Amino acid sequence: MATWNAWGEDDPYCWVVICKNHKFHRQQNLFSGHKIPLGETDAFSPPPELDFRMTVRCDECGQEDTYDPADLVRMQMSFAPNFKPHPLFA
Ligand SMILES: [Zn+2]
Repeated sequence: MATWNAWGEDDPYCWVVICKNHKFHRQQNLFSGHKIPLGETDAFSPPPELDFRMTVRCDECGQEDTYDPADLVRMQMSFAPNFKPHPLFA
């Protein structure tokens, strides 16, 4: 398998959580919710080892919520130019 990155190789991998403020984002992202980027990763690295719930502030609606480490999702997406990683993922 030499072509593992043949698709979507333009976008970096990152850890995201889905914003819990579904009411705010409902109209924009009907199906998947708003993804809050936390930090860059790659296709293979495991998530940071967290044994506590982390507080994440949504980059779009500004709501702060606590997220379980199990809520982390690896996504391929581009970052906003002003993206700042979450302190736990920096
Ligand atoms: Zn939000």
